Amino acid sequence: MGDAYVALDRDWRITYVNPAAARLNGITAVEAVGKTHAEQWPASAGTELERMYRRALDERIAIHMEHRYVEAGKFDTWFEIDACPTDDGGLGIFFRDISARKRAQEALEEGERQFRMLAESIPQLAWMADANGYIYWYNQRWYDYTGTTAEDMAGWGWQSVHDPDQLPLVLDRWQDSIRTGEAFDMEFPLKGADGVFRWFITRVVPVSDACGNVVQWFGTNTDVNERRRMEAKFRATFEQASVGICHTASNGTWLDLNERFCQIVGYSRDELRGMTFRAITHPDDVRRDEDAVARLVAGDLRSYRTEKRYIRKDGSTVWTELTSSFVHDDGSYAAGAGYLVTVVEDISERKAAEQRLNEANLALEELNAELEMRAEQLQETATELEAQTEELQVTTEELMQKTEEAQTANQTKSDFLASMSHELRTPLNAIGGYVELIEMGLRGPVTPEQLTDLARIQRSQKHLLSLINDVLNFAKLGAGQVEYDTENVTLDTALRDTEEMVLPQMRAKDIGYTYEGCDPTLAVSADREKLQQIMLNLLSNAVKFTHPGGHISVACQVSDTFISIRVSDTGIGIPADKLDSIFQPFVQVERKLSQPTTGAGLGLAISHDLALGMGGDLMVESAGGGGSTFTLMMPRATD
Ligand code: ADP
Repeated sequence: MGDAYVALDRDWRITYVNPAAARLNGITAVEAVGKTHAEQWPASAGTELERMYRRALDERIAIHMEHRYVEAGKFDTWFEIDACPTDDGGLGIFFRDISARKRAQEALEEGERQFRMLAESIPQLAWMADANGYIYWYNQRWYDYTGTTAEDMAGWGWQSVHDPDQLPLVLDRWQDSIRTGEAFDMEFPLKGADGVFRWFITRVVPVSDACGNVVQWFGTNTDVNERRRMEAKFRATFEQASVGICHTASNGTWLDLNERFCQIVGYSRDELRGMTFRAITHPDDVRRDEDAVARLVAGDLRSYRTEKRYIRKDGSTVWTELTSSFVHDDGSYAAGAGYLVTVVEDISERKAAEQRLNEANLALEELNAELEMRAEQLQETATELEAQTEELQVTTEELMQKTEEAQTANQTKSDFLASMSHELRTPLNAIGGYVELIEMGLRGPVTPEQLTDLARIQRSQKHLLSLINDVLNFAKLGAGQVEYDTENVTLDTALRDTEEMVLPQMRAKDIGYTYEGCDPTLAVSADREKLQQIMLNLLSNAVKFTHPGGHISVACQVSDTFISIRVSDTGIGIPADKLDSIFQPFVQVERKLSQPTTGAGLGLAISHDLALGMGGDLMVESAGGGGSTFTLMMPRATD
């Protein structure tokens, strides 16, 4: 189809309209010819079109233009117009309807505008290259990030922001894609405006025409620096964690394991990768683990925590505490694809400590039971002791009562003896006095036989008197009425004075006597009279129980605190079974009643009491029949 053609004369009147022009305008040539341009196309008045036509007429030049003619309700058409002056001074106008092409172009431009807007609004760096890889457009983000200009970047200028080490590989791969038409996908660093390289994922997709030929490339660079940093951080945390961490697929196969986990179970990472958790779980713990995994995967359980045993590569068992949760690929907790994240802690030591504690507790319990038993026994013993104490108390009370009774009885006896002795002495003294009166002849003449009898009466009276004196003295001792007039007594003097009193009797009985002498400087602390009374008793007894021709000796022995006076005889001796009781009152060995010189058996008892009363003691030794030795110990004078 040919162009539409309209001819104008110099007055802008239409002189000719060809059929194409008539059809295009919806008019007939007859209607149009004769009308002015403005009459036929009123909407062109004052437009660029009119201005251009005028220029072509005035300057006699050809013009070419595209013009959108809009006449409300009638036209909205794009025309491509060529106008050239005619020989008659008018204008020949060739035009064609290009509305369809214009609309397509506009749509294309709109599409491109929208695409660029989109490409500018995405967070990535973006660019476009032609089929040969020549980059002709970058988004603003690219320039902002790299700090470059369009001139720097045009074509292959982008290489300046690449790491020179990586560039050869990038170029290789990029050229590969250009050649094959395959998408390009690669991670490499790009230099920022601050000179710092950051990691980007670069994806380039081919844009193809209807026939499948690549016409251009669209590329994006996504900043993954932060992601890589996080990944590195995560990896380091994962690897350096003091607990074991593993990722396990829902079928139990390990996906990833950290170093610590490998240490705990004693396998290398490579060995574990092909295995499932079941393979190294203690047989008794497998069932429970499997149940838990099923529930985690099903979403019935958010997290699972347990204590379990692994069998290490060396065959030993290791106790661990494990926490597991299921992470879904889409990050949700709904059932679906995902993997298990498990944290494993070696608690062997804690377990061992628990074991020890249990053992200690058991031992403690046993000890407690034992202690309880002992306590019960003790309680029983205590009860028994209490009963015994009660009994003892009763006994003590009885004893005290008896002692009191005995003391009362003793006192009564002492009182009785004292008063009796006194009562007896008075008539005895009277007997003595009257015998003396008769003896002296004051009652008339006395015959020699009477004198002998009187002498016998006198001896008996004296003997009786001495017996009564003994009884009185002993009674006094028993009643605690004796007073001691303690002084330093020179022993030698005291002994010699006493010896005087018994020497006549010894001579009369033909008994030998030795006094070995006592250091005249030695003194004892004693009541002189009572000391002499004891010595007299010991010497008298020695004379009494030694046969004529026998021997008596007195000797002194000195120690730091005591002086002992030993009175030994060769007399009849004292049987061994009597030695203990000899100092008891009224005790006599083989008493011979016919023997008038025999005493009352009180002498030694009195002497013993007196010796004790002065801080000393009186002891006896005898071999029975082989003589006796009495030892009086007295405390040494202190100064
Ligand atoms: P008495 O001499 O008045 O009987 P004593 O108390 O002085 O009382 O003595 C008690 C008894 O001890 C004596 O009867 C005697 O049997 C025995 N006796 C005392 N001294 C001796 C001695 N030197 N040798 C043997 N027997 C003695």
